Amino acid sequence: MFDSLSDRLSGVFDKLRGRGALTELDVRAAMREVRIALLEADVALPVVKTFIDDVTTRAIGHEVIRSVTPGQQVVKIVSDALVEMLGSEAVELNLGVTPPAVIMLVGLQGSGKTTTCAKIAKRLAEKQGKKVLMASLDVARPAAQEQLRILGEQTKVATLPIVPGQQPVEIAIRARQAAKLQGFDVLMLDTAGRLHVDDALMGEMQAVAREGAPNEILLVVDALTGQDAVNVATAFGSQVALTGVVLTRLDGDARGGAALSMRSVTGKPIKFAGTGEKLDALEAFDPQRVAGRILGMGDVVGLVERAAEVFEQEAAEKMAAKMAKGQFDMEDLRTQLGQMKKMGGLGAIANMIPGVAQAKKAMANGQVDDRILGRMEAVICSMTPKERGKPEIITAKRRIRIAKGAGTTVQEVNKVLKMHQEMAGAMKKLRKMGGMKGMAAMLG
Ligand code: GDP
Repeated sequence: MFDSLSDRLSGVFDKLRGRGALTELDVRAAMREVRIALLEADVALPVVKTFIDDVTTRAIGHEVIRSVTPGQQVVKIVSDALVEMLGSEAVELNLGVTPPAVIMLVGLQGSGKTTTCAKIAKRLAEKQGKKVLMASLDVARPAAQEQLRILGEQTKVATLPIVPGQQPVEIAIRARQAAKLQGFDVLMLDTAGRLHVDDALMGEMQAVAREGAPNEILLVVDALTGQDAVNVATAFGSQVALTGVVLTRLDGDARGGAALSMRSVTGKPIKFAGTGEKLDALEAFDPQRVAGRILGMGDVVGLVERAAEVFEQEAAEKMAAKMAKGQFDMEDLRTQLGQMKKMGGLGAIANMIPGVAQAKKAMANGQVDDRILGRMEAVICSMTPKERGKPEIITAKRRIRIAKGAGTTVQEVNKVLKMHQEMAGAMKKLRKMGGMKGMAAMLG
């Protein structure tokens, strides 16, 4: 996700940064390139137009062009505008004051609604200690209610007992009563999806929304569907009072346009992003971080947080401190690779790490799997401690020895060195920019 957009933007930015002085024409030329990059990433046309107009106005202001570092300033303006486009601040779920809070999920069939329902329930139960009840109102698809029951078992979240023949509105009423009587904090209502938006579906959703009195109506959309996702959001948004959006399949290789357009088009915040099929592959959507990822700095904060969840706090904190200082040697890369393996492979986290997206592309088969991680670790193990601390001293001859020691090729050794260089470079860049928001707080 976002890879090609990221590549395009960093090309434009490099050009801007490389210049001592900027004229209005330079800025306009750069903005034309940014515009093309966004359109190619499948961002909705009106969203692109507003974005470019806004950024251009801000960027050709006199204080920018006359400043000492005009290139940097323009990059910062684009970056700020990108964060705004994504919604500025992360927005939490509104659970109201009197339990049970009701969260209703709507969306097309196959968008990932049922999976997302279980993911959110699991998250609320595990991270916030909430007592959650899930109910499926999908009577259209025979196996839907059963699917949610099974997901409930897997996530250890209670599900409403299935009563054959009951209609969605009746189930919603029964679910509310059960949640109230049995002291649940949160009730999740998974509604029926259809293959496309139709009147019957909308009527049903409106009736359920009336009876279920939800605190949240979250629209689940598949990010891979690009412009269609935007159309679906517009259609749903005109019929029910959406409170937020969940984008699924952000782990896929969509161009990212849906994610970038959704906030502008619906006016509602993206609250979560689905990043895989596993039931813990759900992230709170944080515009700052996502913008950081798009601008090629990698999501270092996200990575460190994920690491902290899985590993000893101490190791993660040490890593965070080093990253914040802009230091990163081969030992660190090795620790990272080991951690990635523990975290279940590169899949979901790959794109959080600066340089990995590029490294992934450079790999022979375009796939980074655990075997590759293992090989990369072996390469680092074959270096001397001195080399690990200062990889730039590794000569061509040593590369051949290291490759032999690790049972791999010189190309593979070069890839590891390149990956390290990119990560170290990104850390430095991060540091120059004063670190990402949140990093300081995390370390403090
Ligand atoms: P529903 O018809 O909208 O309820 O969709 P489901 O929840 O049944 O999901 C359809 C398929 O998409 C399932 O195979 C899910 O595992 C998969 N899926 C859901 N969310 C994600 C995600 O964020 N990433 C990926 N890769 N797959 C997902």
